[in-house]
Amino acid sequence: MTAPTTTPTSQPADDWWLRAACRGSVNPDMFFPTQGRPEPERVELCQRCPVRADCLREGLDTGSKGIWGGTTERQRRKLKETIPPQR
Ligand code: SF4
Repeated sequence: MTAPTTTPTSQPADDWWLRAACRGSVNPDMFFPTQGRPEPERVELCQRCPVRADCLREGLDTGSKGIWGGTTERQRRKLKETIPPQR
């Protein structure tokens, strides 16, 4: 989630982001690293977030940049390769 509150282009359509652990509490650069891996603090925050699954789904569905559900863009691309298409 991306962090939904720090998403540069839009906010998710649903309201799950209101319960996000990162909501209003972090440096946006942690969620949208320009290169490399996310910071360890970021990963820890996502691991204890109550809406991690929703956030990951948003990242997968929208293809948005940044960290969503504790995953990087690269990790999500790999995940999408393993998820069978929905009918
Ligand atoms: S999983 Fe991470 S990026 Fe997504 S809402 Fe939770 S804390 Fe924010």
